[in-house]
Amino acid sequence: MPAPEPRPGVLDITPYKGGASKAAGAARVYKLSSNESALGASPAALEAIRANAEAPERYPDGSATELRAALAALHGLEADRIVCGAGSDEVLQLLCRAYLGPCDAIVQSEHGFLVYAIAATGCGARVVKAPERDLTTDIDAVLAAVDSDTKIVFVANPNNPTGTWIPRADLLRLRDGLPDGVILVVDAAYAEYMDDPDYEDGFDLARNRDDVVVTRTFSKIYGLGGLRLGWGYCPPAVADVLNRIRGPFNVASTALAAGLAALGDQAFVERNRAHNAAERARLVAALEARQFVVTPSAGNFVLVRVPGDGRARALHDRLAAGGVLVRDVAAYGLPEHLRVSIGSTEANDAFLAALDGSAP
Ligand code: PMP
Repeated sequence: MPAPEPRPGVLDITPYKGGASKAAGAARVYKLSSNESALGASPAALEAIRANAEAPERYPDGSATELRAALAALHGLEADRIVCGAGSDEVLQLLCRAYLGPCDAIVQSEHGFLVYAIAATGCGARVVKAPERDLTTDIDAVLAAVDSDTKIVFVANPNNPTGTWIPRADLLRLRDGLPDGVILVVDAAYAEYMDDPDYEDGFDLARNRDDVVVTRTFSKIYGLGGLRLGWGYCPPAVADVLNRIRGPFNVASTALAAGLAALGDQAFVERNRAHNAAERARLVAALEARQFVVTPSAGNFVLVRVPGDGRARALHDRLAAGGVLVRDVAAYGLPEHLRVSIGSTEANDAFLAALDGSAP
């Protein structure tokens, strides 16, 4: 009997593979494969998670009222325009589901985050990848890739897995160059790690326009990836659309409580940012001292070039055998690179020791 037929596009998806979390035979595992928070989560968030464990029978607040109010206050936004999701992944998926069909297209950069292409393909839409320059989003190439089918342009800023970013002027030029009616999604999952005055997380743009969506996550600097919590700042009409199609209780109560507590502990965010900046600089220097080429990264990870056929994968496997898990980024069109998340000082030392072939 033939299998039931899904919607057009669904079977064209190559399923997303998350970073490995197990290393067979290793006594101690250091997971540097998923860009998770090096310092875990804020103690305040952990306390909120424990407190929330008391009443799992209660449905969550499907409107995420308190959390949206806190996000709006922290970032100077309008709470009504915020839509929460089970990770920012869900917000990205909802956007595709709401606005894309089989005759439509999205544009993203060549080595952009994979979920955009997966979500769009699942809606039967065409995915157009704009070539990058120096592993960085090239605004002119993105604009040139837009045609009359384009409904959404996705830009991760900073981008995963390259770690590169575009300054405010480029972001504005991109939006100005897009036709009316095309939604620009600025995925700012790593915004909290940024400290350059030329960086624009997208909110300034989104505040004044009805065609810009900014997505954010609690999975990175807030250390809540396992709870699945993200959000989008949308034009009012887009928020209305997403609220119609999302699940009525799409974010779990524990995630809402932890997110609220985490937002209240900005000192933890600052500690995590400082740790990341210091450890990233240390790791880059150590890698360069070992003759590796490292792409300048603004995120909590670095992209390391391992030139030669199959050499990146071989190094990945050798590190894994020593208990250090990094990310193979061949699926991103980067078969000669590895992505290494910035971990705790101990994890980063273990990575360098495994790289040198000594026991971590
Ligand atoms: N955008 C980017 C650029 C990412 O790297 C990630 C996580 N890997 C996400 C979005 C999704 O994160 P989450 O669904 O955990 O919020």
